[in-house]
Amino acid sequence: AKILFEGPEPGTIVQYFKDDATAFNAQKKGTIQGKGVINNRISEYVFTRLSHIGIPTHFIRRINMREQVVRQVEIIPIEVVVRNVAAGSISKRLGIPEGEPLPHTLIEYYLKDDALEDPMVAEEHIACFGWASNEEMQDISAMAIRVNDFLSGMFAAINIRLIDFKLEFGRLWVGDYSRVILADEISPDGCRLWDMTTGEKLDKDRFRRDLGGEEEAYQEVARRLGLLQDESGPSEVFDL
Ligand code: UDP
Repeated sequence: AKILFEGPEPGTIVQYFKDDATAFNAQKKGTIQGKGVINNRISEYVFTRLSHIGIPTHFIRRINMREQVVRQVEIIPIEVVVRNVAAGSISKRLGIPEGEPLPHTLIEYYLKDDALEDPMVAEEHIACFGWASNEEMQDISAMAIRVNDFLSGMFAAINIRLIDFKLEFGRLWVGDYSRVILADEISPDGCRLWDMTTGEKLDKDRFRRDLGGEEEAYQEVARRLGLLQDESGPSEVFDL
């Protein structure tokens, strides 16, 4: 969904957001018109708000409709999935009906490895094979919980239920020392977002499950966040 270029300053990268969509380990491919523009803007907004509550992130600045400058990090090869409500793979794997609230928030880890189709791993595997240190995992899980609490409230305020989402973290090196910061993107590509009233899906499941209306769903999330032009007048706006 993104192309990475060398950034304008040393230690920076440009993330270019494409309209390409993939699912099921890239077996399903397609295009969601305007998605790159929306995800660039949504991710800028979310990372900026997270930085205001003290979450360290790679985001530096958005430079145009499809590009943002971020700090170059060494990506930790673990996808961190946070779940509030059962959906997707946990429902399939454990037979928990989609939409059932979980007794408490779950954090799961998946190894980023396309050839192995991103298998779920335990913290023991992460420590055993050295993909991240125990200290790093403590920082990661603490940040994941804070991000979940913040985003759950942020989306609830616009009548959206945050079902689950995926985060990625990276190491920022300063000399011989590194610290873990939030990287990648946060957008409807990597979150499940359901309208609180109707249950309508406003995320990539529309594409994964051939439900149609993916362009409109992504736009609706941006609109509710106040990032698109609508009848109530412009805020910080641009036309798609
Ligand atoms: N997710 C993601 N990238 C992945 C796998 C999952 O962004 O490679 C997100 C997905 O959008 C959902 C959450 O992580 O919000 C949990 O996904 P799940 O494990 O249910 O897998 P899926 O059903 O998407 O295959």
